[in-house]
Amino acid sequence: MRMDPREIAVPRRIPVLDMSHEIQTLKPQLMSAIEAVLDRGAFIMGQNVKDFEREAAEYLGVDYAIALNSGTDALVIALLACGIGEGDEVITTPFTFFATAEAISRVGAVPVFVDVDPGTYNMDISLLESAITERTKAIIPVHLFGQSIDMDPVMELAKQRDLIVVEDVAQAFGGEYKGSKVGTIGDMGCFSFFPSKNLGTYGDGGLVATNDPGLAELAAMLRTHGSKKKYYNELIGFNSRLDEIQAAILRVKLPYIDIWNEGRHQASERYRQLLEGIEGIVLPVEEDYSKHVYHQYTIRVLHARRDELQAKLLAEGISTMIYYPLPVHQLPVYQSMNLSMPVAESLSSEVLSLPIWPQIEVSTQRYIADKIRASLS
Ligand SMILES: *Cc1c(COP(=O)(O)O)cnc(C)c1O
Repeated sequence: MRMDPREIAVPRRIPVLDMSHEIQTLKPQLMSAIEAVLDRGAFIMGQNVKDFEREAAEYLGVDYAIALNSGTDALVIALLACGIGEGDEVITTPFTFFATAEAISRVGAVPVFVDVDPGTYNMDISLLESAITERTKAIIPVHLFGQSIDMDPVMELAKQRDLIVVEDVAQAFGGEYKGSKVGTIGDMGCFSFFPSKNLGTYGDGGLVATNDPGLAELAAMLRTHGSKKKYYNELIGFNSRLDEIQAAILRVKLPYIDIWNEGRHQASERYRQLLEGIEGIVLPVEEDYSKHVYHQYTIRVLHARRDELQAKLLAEGISTMIYYPLPVHQLPVYQSMNLSMPVAESLSSEVLSLPIWPQIEVSTQRYIADKIRASLS
């Protein structure tokens, strides 16, 4: 029986991310790609991994792409390849997923946090220079929620002060800064293919991108137990390979990334139109220098009403997320640093990420916007 769309009853169930469209559409391609891996019987460092690395490098416009088993490992391996370790300081943002800072600590270096801009949620560039000390070795800018940070001043400062730049691009595959793909501007770019990322696989995955042949070689060695040649280990490395099935899945998905990023961008435009003028919320700022891929559409809810709004939306069947409920410097592991980052701290109590995916329907967005307006009035 077909239902008249006007009769579809509320309350609806709206997840924060709906992957069913993508999976249903691509299922035949995905199944045959996975089946081909099974038929070939090569599960580690096979042809799909090599082909995916070549295709990803081509897409990004970069000389080398090394596929890894997660975005976290991409950060750790990039830092190690760049020679960062014990005693070094690495500047980054406190408003990110923990893994950014965790990777810095993991290699023995110290994360130095720089507060963020309340409009873009990205590192406040004007505070960057004053965070540099004699021990500073690198900067990790994070292109949060899919929007590039202003890279020119970061690269300028890095050049002046002889610092390495490792970009955390976990949330911005395909995003751009002044026409260049993010993740290809600094010394190395670190991507994640965690399932919910804007380019995700159906398991864990990651990648480092670079134009430097020496860094590429080191990263590839660190991935496979510090060896170029099997059983001739030269360094203490990791087992951090992307597996063949995940590479095959990513090869099916990569050709769609521009269409999907465009779908997310259009959804963000519709949210802007639907939400503009609602009292008590602030919409995300999109900068001219960036092609924002809206991994998240994150609003700020003022007057301490964020949690109340989230609960009211949930009661209407609308799921939302809080990225991130605590800034990194206030997480238990870093609490003893006793830092004060006022903007990041207030963002943590104000941000709310709304449902977004490339194929989200206008009617769904209208429903969400109506409920937000009603909840806050
Ligand atoms: C997801 C994410 C990571 C870690 O990636 P994994 O693949 O989950 O290890 C790192 N940094 C940021 C900003 C992320 O969002």
